[in-house]
Amino acid sequence: MQIFWHRRDPRIHDNAGLTAATRSGNVLPVFVYDTELLGTIGSRQRSFYFQCIRELQDQYRSLGSDLLVRSGSPEEVLPNIAAKHNADRVVYNEHYRPARQNREKAVKDALSAEDIDIKSLTDLVLVSPSRLDSRYPTHSQFYDDWEDVPKLSPFSDPDTDAFIEFSDAKTVPSPSSDIELPKPGYEGARERLDTFIDEGITSYNDNRDDLAGAVESPKTTVSRMSPYISVGAIGIREIWAAASEVYNAVHGSERRNVDKYRYELSWREQNYHLLYYMPDLAVSNYKTFPNDIDWRNDQEDFKAWANGKTGYPLVDAGMRQLEQEGYIHNRPRQVVASFLTKHLLIDWRKGARYFTKQLIDHDYASNHGSWQWIASTGTDSVDVRIFDPVSQLAKYDSGAKYVKQYIPELQDVPADKIVDWPTLSPGERSQLAPQYPHPIVDRNGGYERAQRVFEEALGKR
Ligand SMILES: Cc1cc2nc3c(=O)[nH]c(=O)nc-3n(C[C@H](O)[C@H](O)[C@H](O)COP(=O)(O)OP(=O)(O)OC[C@H]3O[C@@H](n4cnc5c(N)ncnc54)[C@H](O)[C@@H]3O)c2cc1C
Repeated sequence: MQIFWHRRDPRIHDNAGLTAATRSGNVLPVFVYDTELLGTIGSRQRSFYFQCIRELQDQYRSLGSDLLVRSGSPEEVLPNIAAKHNADRVVYNEHYRPARQNREKAVKDALSAEDIDIKSLTDLVLVSPSRLDSRYPTHSQFYDDWEDVPKLSPFSDPDTDAFIEFSDAKTVPSPSSDIELPKPGYEGARERLDTFIDEGITSYNDNRDDLAGAVESPKTTVSRMSPYISVGAIGIREIWAAASEVYNAVHGSERRNVDKYRYELSWREQNYHLLYYMPDLAVSNYKTFPNDIDWRNDQEDFKAWANGKTGYPLVDAGMRQLEQEGYIHNRPRQVVASFLTKHLLIDWRKGARYFTKQLIDHDYASNHGSWQWIASTGTDSVDVRIFDPVSQLAKYDSGAKYVKQYIPELQDVPADKIVDWPTLSPGERSQLAPQYPHPIVDRNGGYERAQRVFEEALGKR
């Protein structure tokens, strides 16, 4: 008998390790509620993840089996369960997050001391980082190699007869969340994917940056699959296959739109690649600088940023979307991160930590990899990348629909004045929206200061 140890993969479909385990005999599905590790993610994502675990348990129960849930550290819990159920093998899917790798190592040591076999598989990514070079200076160089590796089809469903028949009353806690969460579990993920495949993917490239569109049709201009992908409620091969099926069926501009969606998944793959080869991605700059970056780390500025009160409408709308939904559209996500690290010169690690707490789609690799990219400490073809929050708003939300969705103080202000807000005179601003803040940093002054500080760090000044 074998144990399948569910980790960041609360699903039965397209699950590499689970399918492999059922091919070799009976399987006892187990989830270890590891309080220490789960304490490192935000309470919103934890609630969503636990709801996904409960859905998984229900699925096992409907198949006449169950998900055995126990709390504690896996290196203690798993050998105990194995001894009690006479299991001779533990199977699981690998993860590249250092804390999870440390768990794996401790589990391996504990199980091999008891003569229990252990088998781990690659499930998290479309292309195992081990198949690629260890370092790529830019995303496009990574992409060229990654694209050449054939992608696997979804793993076939496991043989459900292999799941042992049992029932157990224990489950995971059900902490409440301060925000509305998406429908959990595989079913929620598949529904979301189907809607996007039917209504959004063939216009994805055209619409993905349209912020007014994102307000009107939030589930079709972009997929909003990230909460599901980040907790592992759906397999990445299943998403790739669904997108590829459309890709093969359409032509011309529709095909280009679909291809862009598949391309975006490669950013996630690159972030896992970075983490795989650089386990301290969350703490150390990926790029080596000859001089220190002169971060200002002003606490009041950080507070204004976190509370959506910087006086930069797109930044504030993004941060308030984060507060209200645990999610930020990718365009403002880039702008808020750039604003923090460049205009305010606050260390990217502080921003990443805040996102970890607030996001329901927090992904250890994508969060830290993306913060590093935005902060110009990661991989990028540009030395110092700075997003101008005013021109970004003019380009992607000129009617200020997205901004007005999240900032009630600007409800009655004409769109062109919202776009130009940071450059209006203080008197005009006070007249137009007395409740909304004045900019906390000068638009051009902040830009030029960031440019100087980064060029000094790079030894270019
Ligand atoms: C500072 C910063 C922090 C981020 N933190 C996270 C995070 O914690 N978790 C997370 O999933 N994404 C993160 N991203 C990437 C991106 O913003 C989100 O993946 C995307 O907005 C999720 O919305 P969606 O599912 O509608 O995306 P879609 O546009 O529909 O894309 C589909 C999927 O592709 C992947 N993807 C798309 N763009 C990116 C990208 N740039 N980087 C990595 N994966 C991508 C995601 O899995 C996403 O769900 C971050 C980006 C920035 C700039």
